[in-house]
Amino acid sequence: MVVIGLGRFGGSLAQELTRHGSEVLVLDNRPHLVQQFSDAVTHAAVADTTDPEALRQLDVPGFRRAVVAIGDDLEASILTTSLLSDLGISCIWAKATNRQHGRILERVGAHYVVLPEHDMGERVAHLVTGRMLDYIQVEDDYAIVKTRAPNITVDQPLNGSRVRSKYGVTVVGIKRPGEGFTHATQDTVPHHGDILIVSGRSHEVERFADLT
Ligand code: ADP
Repeated sequence: MVVIGLGRFGGSLAQELTRHGSEVLVLDNRPHLVQQFSDAVTHAAVADTTDPEALRQLDVPGFRRAVVAIGDDLEASILTTSLLSDLGISCIWAKATNRQHGRILERVGAHYVVLPEHDMGERVAHLVTGRMLDYIQVEDDYAIVKTRAPNITVDQPLNGSRVRSKYGVTVVGIKRPGEGFTHATQDTVPHHGDILIVSGRSHEVERFADLT
């Protein structure tokens, strides 16, 4: 795996991959950043990744996966992504600062585009307005949320409160205070203070999480 750009996003990504046992080559054109990461990852090198020769010398074409974590410098992000595509890297992830940037990255060869600031902004919007403790948008109209058990579900089995038929959502997991998460079944009885993991269409899980 090659990670290009050691800003906040690329740096955290490279460290997490290394913690999970992946072999990671990190590249950045700023020597002090490369120096800083040299002990934390498998290989680190200073390179301008818009230079095809530099990529070849570092054996980048031999990697199957790459993440372009250059954000603000659009030209460098686009050029690097298109070079990786030309070099035949089979799985290219690229970070975009906005949707337009993301569309260009897809055009020049990115297989997956992530919009971390945009996605996190949307996610926090859901958290600050309601009772949700976490919110993950799985697809445009489908989400998984973590929320406190609403009163209508408390002290009766889930099939009794008819969560699915009334609210269109499925409770998939439950956590009692001081315990870990377990799978929820139709016989699970939530109590006050329990936390639920709920999946369903976005507006339905939002409505469910807003119940008191
Ligand atoms: P973040 O918002 O995650 O902090 P940045 O866009 O600030 O991300 O950081 C991107 C990183 O990419 C910087 O460390 C920068 O030095 C590096 N970078 C930018 N252009 C190139 C390039 N042409 N070659 C290699 N690294 C680059």
